[in-house]
Amino acid sequence: MVQAKILIWYRADLRLHDHEPLQTAVAEMQAMSAQIVPVYCFDPRQFGQTSFGFPKTGAFRAQFLLESVADLRRSLRAIGSDLVVRQGLPEVIIPQLVQQLGITAVYYHREITSEETAVETTLQQALNALSVTFTPFWGHTLYHPDDLPFELCQLPELFTHFRKQVEKQSTVNPVLRSPTQLPPLPTVEPGDLPQLADLGLAAPAHDDRAVLAFKGGETAGLARLQHYIWQQDCLKVYKETRNGMLGANYSSKFSPWLSLGCLSPRYIYEQVQQYETERVQNDSTYWLVFELLWRDYFRFVCAKHGDRVFRRSGLQGIAIAWKQDWQRFDRWRNGTTGFPLIDANMQELAATGFISNRGRQNVASFLTKNLGIDWRMGAEWFESLLLDYDVCSNWGNWNYTAGVGNDARGFRFFNILKQSKDYDPNGEYVKHWLPALIKVPNSKVHEPWKLLPVEQQRFGVRIGVDYPQPLVDLFKSAAANETLYNAAVKAG
Ligand SMILES: Cc1cc2nc3c(=O)[nH]c(=O)nc-3n(C[C@H](O)[C@H](O)[C@H](O)COP(=O)(O)OP(=O)(O)OC[C@H]3O[C@@H](n4cnc5c(N)ncnc54)[C@H](O)[C@@H]3O)c2cc1C
Repeated sequence: MVQAKILIWYRADLRLHDHEPLQTAVAEMQAMSAQIVPVYCFDPRQFGQTSFGFPKTGAFRAQFLLESVADLRRSLRAIGSDLVVRQGLPEVIIPQLVQQLGITAVYYHREITSEETAVETTLQQALNALSVTFTPFWGHTLYHPDDLPFELCQLPELFTHFRKQVEKQSTVNPVLRSPTQLPPLPTVEPGDLPQLADLGLAAPAHDDRAVLAFKGGETAGLARLQHYIWQQDCLKVYKETRNGMLGANYSSKFSPWLSLGCLSPRYIYEQVQQYETERVQNDSTYWLVFELLWRDYFRFVCAKHGDRVFRRSGLQGIAIAWKQDWQRFDRWRNGTTGFPLIDANMQELAATGFISNRGRQNVASFLTKNLGIDWRMGAEWFESLLLDYDVCSNWGNWNYTAGVGNDARGFRFFNILKQSKDYDPNGEYVKHWLPALIKVPNSKVHEPWKLLPVEQQRFGVRIGVDYPQPLVDLFKSAAANETLYNAAVKAG
């Protein structure tokens, strides 16, 4: 009998725990001594440019990815195996490895957005020609699509409807344990990990003001979970702190590890349940799972609607007259709009690759509802910079904020001034990122354009010189964009 040789194609699932392709291969190894060959390909397309010309994977995420792949390799080595690393197209490299090593099957976690599924389709064709089994698994969400109370094509268009049905009728599958022993690799060159420079990127500068020194990999992800949930006991107050913007623990910061699959959402869910049994069950413990449901929802939305999530008119097909005004876009992305909350967030994003959910909502609302700029430029800027970029969560949230996604409430815009006062009442956050405003009293820091010349002198800031004049009038600009929005809805 020919010995089975199973290639595990690693993608955004860089972990050992709760990994069904690996588990299935391990079961076959135990039943009929199959060999297992874990592989990761650095795909050059991921390091190209977005349609508006930004680096598709910026330096923050690329570094996090390199750390995550290195960690996976270390973990596989510790249990007797290794990770084969290559640079190139998976649909070329994997068939080559299949032929070189006599691989009989390839197991992988399937994706659902077009760039990723195009690779799967081409690879499938190449493997069919070699008569090699190509088996997809579903592994990125809390709930498995088979366990949803509806078919994906029947997915509710409103999150609340989705959530209520799922909470009532579906269950989360148990976590699959990490293997403790794997067979050694067959004779094959494991390959070196690339350096950032090999990917065309320079190392990102470290900024002490960052919320966290994010480090990629399953090991660091599990450690963050231990720290946040168990050591610091932050879960019990998550609902009260989650709208913060300063510091490591206002929210879990699990997203970068979730996005590359270093943490499984089911593992987080299991840990929350254990915490509820051993420590406390309250609104906060529920709310973390609630947020993970949003993550599930956007993935299922993308599965249902396909490429519509990337279209200018969005999921709802509303043909709004968006502008592609690069001058104003530059002021937005550089954090020089004259609105401290927006500028602090955009400067934090550029300096660290991370901003809070509250910050993301505000800057996205400002770009689309105050500047009227094509939301896809913002989505691509986020794609380039975010450490936790996740295609479904990013494009789904941008659709939502731009008013073209799953939101029944039409033109909704964030009142930036009210948001500033509600979520940064003492101006600590904006002062953390905008040194020009450091001496401005807290009561005036969110509206620096109102400072009288004498105050500007006293507080050491010249508006229009040290800190910009506001780019727009908040309410007039929102009203003008609302008119455009309503006209598009009416026309469409
Ligand atoms: C315009 C915009 C773009 C976004 N782009 C991304 C992205 O590319 N990748 C990404 O992971 N999140 C994205 N988000 C969602 C959210 O802002 C981040 O998931 C969250 O800020 C990450 O921090 P955390 O892990 O501390 O979150 P926590 O508050 O601790 O939440 C726990 C987890 O729940 C999930 N989650 C929370 N809020 C959302 C949400 N609104 N949508 C989807 N999942 C959510 C995340 O996986 C998060 O890690 C975006 C939000 C907006 C408004």
